[in-house]
Amino acid sequence: MGREVEVLRSNILRIIEDESFLEELRREFKKYFDTANSFVKQYYRVNRRLPMQMNVYWVLRKSGAPSTTANEVSKKVLESWKGYIELKKYGYKTRVPEFKNTPIILHNEQYRVYAVRERDKWIAEKIEFSLNRKWVSLRVRGKLRWVPELKEGLVFYMRRLKYPIIELRHCLVDNYLILGEKCFNKNRAEIFRRNGKWYFAFSVSLKIPRLKGKGIAGVDIGARNLVALCGVSDSGESFSVLFKSGTLRSYWLKCEKLARRRNRIAHQYFWEAVKCAESGDKEREKECFSKYRLFLRKTGRFRKKAKEVRKKAVNSMCRLIAEFFASKGISIVYIGNSVCYCVSREDLVKEITSKPTRELLRNFFAPRQIIDSLRRHCEVKGIQVIEVGEKGTSSICPVCGQRIQRPYRGLVVCEKCGQFNADLVAAYNIMKFNSSVELNDKELKRLLNNPKTYIYLVKEQKWIPKN
Ligand SMILES: [Zn+2]
Repeated sequence: MGREVEVLRSNILRIIEDESFLEELRREFKKYFDTANSFVKQYYRVNRRLPMQMNVYWVLRKSGAPSTTANEVSKKVLESWKGYIELKKYGYKTRVPEFKNTPIILHNEQYRVYAVRERDKWIAEKIEFSLNRKWVSLRVRGKLRWVPELKEGLVFYMRRLKYPIIELRHCLVDNYLILGEKCFNKNRAEIFRRNGKWYFAFSVSLKIPRLKGKGIAGVDIGARNLVALCGVSDSGESFSVLFKSGTLRSYWLKCEKLARRRNRIAHQYFWEAVKCAESGDKEREKECFSKYRLFLRKTGRFRKKAKEVRKKAVNSMCRLIAEFFASKGISIVYIGNSVCYCVSREDLVKEITSKPTRELLRNFFAPRQIIDSLRRHCEVKGIQVIEVGEKGTSSICPVCGQRIQRPYRGLVVCEKCGQFNADLVAAYNIMKFNSSVELNDKELKRLLNNPKTYIYLVKEQKWIPKN
């Protein structure tokens, strides 16, 4: 294991001028995506395996794509096909990859980013990218949240010693920064459109010193407790923490109920509009149709709000956890990820409540969001996050190792050792299966029965300890 962790972080900037030619460019890219996709699809149907990247590359080249474009597009198309096949192998329901809102992809040596310093932040000014050997400049807005470590001053790169070609690596002075085409700490960039606006996203790789410390932790993710974690700190002290989802869940429920009511009204108006159309009442038809659209918008707004609140809560939870880990000297974290692959989310929420409520909560639980957020927050602190399978971790007694029952809700019961919180047991087992941690029975029971518990205050937007 190295002493440094390399992590990728994305900067997203808003493009604020001349979007018309971007749309044209995007359409061109879409064409290449479709060409590559249909070729891969055909190839897979016949051969039951994926073509080499080289094959896809040449198909694109023959249809007129520049080499860099062909390279990036073939890479991206094959990546999503690999994901599709992987999921299919495990028997999960998936759909054949389709490319709808395709981005414009630029590889590393095809773009530059300019920024000025304002107080302690780098504010992006413009980007430049090369298109058919010409550099195009676009004004952008936004700050660079992630800048790789760079040497001060102007740094060039020389190519072909006989007839030298000079290319810019980077320029870093007091108040000015250029990430040049030869800056190897940045990666490929994408230009994409969302909600009618154009964005430029590029990632940089950061080297973060690995956190020193022998601490280790296990994390279990669930619908009842968003996160249950158990760990042993660098100094050998053990701890357990629960993050309750109760308040968030009821907020989600409230929003979903309101959304569904709006949705019902919207549909009533829709059918009325249809009736009016049949009877030729143009005026009323128009009115009903606009009402239909209005209520549909309202529906969407409630759902969006609920999602925003959940995202904010998850992010602030993960920040808390990462800070906590760092303070305890935890350098490796194991996360159980099987929940992400559950075919039916309803199984997970099943423990929670009655059927109608379950129906409303169907989309509440977002394990991937939690894992990704936790990984992001931990990695920038130098903590390594490892995803592991968690099958069976909550059906083995943590103390004696026997198979145990889950009679109801969040409890597990062992005939010999007593009852424990199921999520904490899973977190402890995830840690135990992947490391050499051993706790004595007494300490373990104390750990599993006295977790520090956090609840979320939706209005104040923060997590507070309950005990
Ligand atoms: Zn037991």
